[in-house]
Amino acid sequence: MSRSAPAIVILGNGSLNTARRIQQCYPQAKIHGLTERVDGADLTYSDFGATVRQLYQHDTPIIVLCAAGIVIRTLAPLLLEKGAEPPVLAVAEDASAVVPLLGGLGGVNDMAREIAACLSIEPAITTSGELRFGTCLLNPPAGYALGDLELGKRFVSDLLAGESVRIEGDAPWLAKAQLPEDQQARLAIHVSSAAREPAVDELLIYPRNVLLRVAYEVSAHAMRDALQEAKLAWQSLACVVADDSLLASAGLRDAARELGVPLRFVSADAPEVSAVWRQLSNGLTLGVAAAPVDPQQIGRPRGRLAVIGLGPGAADLMAPAVKAELAKANDVLGYETYVRMAGPFRTDQVLHCTDNREEMQRARHAFELAVQGRSVVVVSSGDPGVFAMAAAVLEALHASTDPLWHSVDLEMLPGISASLATAAQAGAPLGHDFCVMSLSDNLKPWSIIEKRLDLASEADLALAFYNPISRSRPWQLGRALEIVARHRAPHTPVVLGRDIGRPGQTLRTTTLGEVTPDQVDMRTMVLIGSSTTCSFPRAEGGDWVYTPRWYGEKP
Ligand code: SAH
Repeated sequence: MSRSAPAIVILGNGSLNTARRIQQCYPQAKIHGLTERVDGADLTYSDFGATVRQLYQHDTPIIVLCAAGIVIRTLAPLLLEKGAEPPVLAVAEDASAVVPLLGGLGGVNDMAREIAACLSIEPAITTSGELRFGTCLLNPPAGYALGDLELGKRFVSDLLAGESVRIEGDAPWLAKAQLPEDQQARLAIHVSSAAREPAVDELLIYPRNVLLRVAYEVSAHAMRDALQEAKLAWQSLACVVADDSLLASAGLRDAARELGVPLRFVSADAPEVSAVWRQLSNGLTLGVAAAPVDPQQIGRPRGRLAVIGLGPGAADLMAPAVKAELAKANDVLGYETYVRMAGPFRTDQVLHCTDNREEMQRARHAFELAVQGRSVVVVSSGDPGVFAMAAAVLEALHASTDPLWHSVDLEMLPGISASLATAAQAGAPLGHDFCVMSLSDNLKPWSIIEKRLDLASEADLALAFYNPISRSRPWQLGRALEIVARHRAPHTPVVLGRDIGRPGQTLRTTTLGEVTPDQVDMRTMVLIGSSTTCSFPRAEGGDWVYTPRWYGEKP
């Protein structure tokens, strides 16, 4: 597994020197410095805890130049969650110590040794097996899979207790290890793709050198049967290789996911992968290569396109599914402000920032990238389906006759829309039926906006206005308020939320009689109550605004 570039996190200028020395060891790494405390960092942050936790959740290796205890306490809330566990290291600000803290199976000790070498110090390695044998037996290199972690731990502790070991099979990475080898040993390390019952005195390591070639949709069950028929361990399966014609097969996608292997696609006339191939009784073709196979070298994956909503801006209002999608993205497209809001990104992620008005072009560009097998994210603020990119992406797909575009794994991931984020801060102004409108007449005639305003106001729906005003649309909001005022009393509550969920947010409660367009700009959400919307003072200042659940006679 290739590791992404680490993040080097520092809290003060005193650490900059050491950070730069570590950066020489990882040229791709970025130095993240605390705003106002660090001059000359590559990136700045203002909240240490949130930054470190977000990096961790994005599976980014983290090198923090501060006390180990601070790092431990910062990450503690995440440690019980199952999920990413990237390498995490604490390094002394004066470059005198490097302490691997987390990510034992992700190569943290290797990183500690690399950093220590570049700082000319000894790393504080505490993993017994590694100290004794010079390698972590439970973390075989890329291309090999450990049979069973729990049995493995027991095996290593037997070795540490002084037993010797035999190596059966081809384990080139163990040649350099200092293992107490003995051909008569009870304990054995088996490296082979053959199916084998796990036993306590054996450490099973499987080379991922088996390929399954499929020409039609096959279940995980059938794939397992195929391997069993060939007497091969399913852990040795490197990937499933399918015909291009199966790109859109959900069944195949689920089967590969169930087996935990990549699914790669090749055209029918693609050159064969070098392996010993054989036909199985159920029509599947199975290949065994001489050495582990890197799936990245075979064909390409099914491209993915996710249209995501960032929510209003605050990181904690972003859905975990959206964060996970951003972490696995190869390409990120969107309006520059939103792309920046979606970061930080790794150096291997490609950002395509465009002007806000180039929606259709951006949507087509996203498909062009996705059909190459890339994982593409298109970002919107709030929810992608509310006056944002999801509809543009579907319009581009609808207009396309390219079967490859239609076979892209397309998904929309929702976000908290500005109207809902603003409503939540004000109380519950949208607690009953409401109508959402964009006041922009860029993509629709003003006459239809007036008509809808008139009818929605007459229908006594609470109203949420997106795109209420801009420099090129200066008069429209005033006109809209006039239309609403024909149907609603001047004391009707109005909420103005500006930059909600972002730094410097403001929330203002006023009334229909008092609101004026100059209190509103293009970063403002306008909520107008219905006839039942009311407000009352809240203890901490300001007002609560809500629209009751009932209508008509109070129950
Ligand atoms: N997809 C977005 C809306 C895009 S339209 C969503 O679901 O929120 C852009 C308009 O949304 C802006 O003109 C403004 O009216 C509103 N808006 C977006 N983010 C906002 C925020 N953080 N605070 C207040 N209004 C916001």
